[in-house]
Amino acid sequence: MLQQTQVATVIDYYNRWMQKWPTLQALAQASLEEVNELWAGLGYYSRGKRLQEAARKVVSELAGRMPRTAEDLQKLLPGVGRYTAGAIASISYGQATGVVDGNVIRVLCRLRCIGADSSSPAVIDRLWDMANVLVDRSRPGDFNQALMELGATVCVPKAPLCGECPVKQHCRARRRVEKELAFASQKLFGKPVPVPDVEDCGVGGCPLCPPATEPWDSSLGVTNFPRKAAKKQPRVARTATCVLERRGCHGAPEYLIVQRPSSGLLAGLWEFPSLPLAQGLQEEKQREALADHLQAWTGWPVAAAGLRLIGEVVHIFSHIHQTYVVYSLPLDGDMTLDPALSPSRWVTEEEFHASAVSTAMKKVLKAHEKQRGESSPGKGSKRKRGAKQQGASSTRPGTQLSLRAFLRAPTSP
Ligand code: SF4
Repeated sequence: MLQQTQVATVIDYYNRWMQKWPTLQALAQASLEEVNELWAGLGYYSRGKRLQEAARKVVSELAGRMPRTAEDLQKLLPGVGRYTAGAIASISYGQATGVVDGNVIRVLCRLRCIGADSSSPAVIDRLWDMANVLVDRSRPGDFNQALMELGATVCVPKAPLCGECPVKQHCRARRRVEKELAFASQKLFGKPVPVPDVEDCGVGGCPLCPPATEPWDSSLGVTNFPRKAAKKQPRVARTATCVLERRGCHGAPEYLIVQRPSSGLLAGLWEFPSLPLAQGLQEEKQREALADHLQAWTGWPVAAAGLRLIGEVVHIFSHIHQTYVVYSLPLDGDMTLDPALSPSRWVTEEEFHASAVSTAMKKVLKAHEKQRGESSPGKGSKRKRGAKQQGASSTRPGTQLSLRAFLRAPTSP
């Protein structure tokens, strides 16, 4: 839970998780649906899924015994990579093995003036070697947590607190800054400036040194390290999504949600019926594509003109810049969906929020409710109470039509 999210956010999720599944055996019996519901909002849903798969594997194939070394953890459990394996083995089982996460990368690169791209295999392998050598043999878990905490609280990315750092006397980046200051003052007073030593080299074919094209920048000080390769731009994606709404018992709105496939992005989560769009598609075309999609899926004739455009909702996944083009479609009757196509269900607003839905879908519902609030009588709409509903051909912003209303054959003038 903590790998991508802050502690403050995680506490509540963690407590609820541990209350519900206090043992591996309990987690092994949970359904993916339950796991997704509890994980909803944390992002990276495959992590919750893999955690549950790992619990199942331990219970059913490993006789309930967790693997205890980093090698076995990584080899035997789904979702356990090098970092997670090292953290579990050292913290839970006392194995003298190192960990390398973003914080450790920063600390070690500064301690050793490693200026090559910190995501390159040569640098990563070297950092793991260093972490495995450095780790305290008698208290590996404490040591690893201390190293990560040092990066999180003292050796921070932008303004590290070098003066308070407990390892400053071992830090080559800091030494280099001090030397530069000494050189500058000697120069100022006309004294001879010594030749830089090998620690300051930055030349030659060393796979750990800063590349010749990006030499040390005096203005950056210790934050010259670590160096990162330019970040890959996230993929841009557009999806049309439709909030299908009906009046449930007591007149409260209900929404139709469908389940996503069990693999890929947001696997197994629930969402409003959605359709990925080709880039550059005009609004009219995307509306038609969505209407066709809904028609194929529901078996009902759906006219593009009846879809009401709510607006756009942007959600940033780690590697995707996703825009949802949100439409709504109010229904005045029940709709039976073919269960062979994809699981679907009607939910109240409360049930929607308790379901395994992504944060992006919660934003979509919020946009829909905001629009409804703005267009309802007394909140900006000029439509008078009791005014007659118009036919499909006279759809206008702020007017909701029932599915039957806009499917009705047009009357002759
Ligand atoms: Fe980081 Fe500064 Fe400590 Fe070096 S002295 S490890 S740069 S905080």
